[in-house]
Amino acid sequence: MTAVYDDNNIFSKILRGEIPAHRVYENDDVLAFMDVMPQSNGHTLVIPKTPSRNLLDAAPETLSALMKAVQHVAKAAKTAFEADGITIMQFNEPAAGQTVYHLHFHIIPRYEGIDLKPHSGKMEDNGILSANAEKLRAQL
Ligand code: AMP
Repeated sequence: MTAVYDDNNIFSKILRGEIPAHRVYENDDVLAFMDVMPQSNGHTLVIPKTPSRNLLDAAPETLSALMKAVQHVAKAAKTAFEADGITIMQFNEPAAGQTVYHLHFHIIPRYEGIDLKPHSGKMEDNGILSANAEKLRAQL
């Protein structure tokens, strides 16, 4: 059985404006911001405003709006970070690697011959996150 949604999670707090984030894109349905522990330069997260724990309990309408935004941000990230490709990742439940329990998609710029850094590895410098957010906003 899937656990219930808990609105004390960190992304819910970002949505409520209780903690800061490097926000890059927002519409009525979604918010996108920089991942603070990027697996590659420009790693961005896209989340729905409607609460769901992950993909398994999300309403189809939530996914529909979310995937449009994922594509929009992915295309912009490819240009902004001059990437060779984009990896999209999404984890459901701890066994699958999920650590924050508000649905999110990872948008990760990729470069030929360069491996991904570890998931939830090292905190990025705030100045780099800020500069990357600025670069991405300029394409959105
Ligand atoms: P997941 O393991 O798929 O649940 O991924 C959670 C992601 O959220 C990881 O890539 C973390 O680096 C990222 N993360 C955790 N806290 C924050 C935060 N406050 N702002 C932005 N990204 C975060």
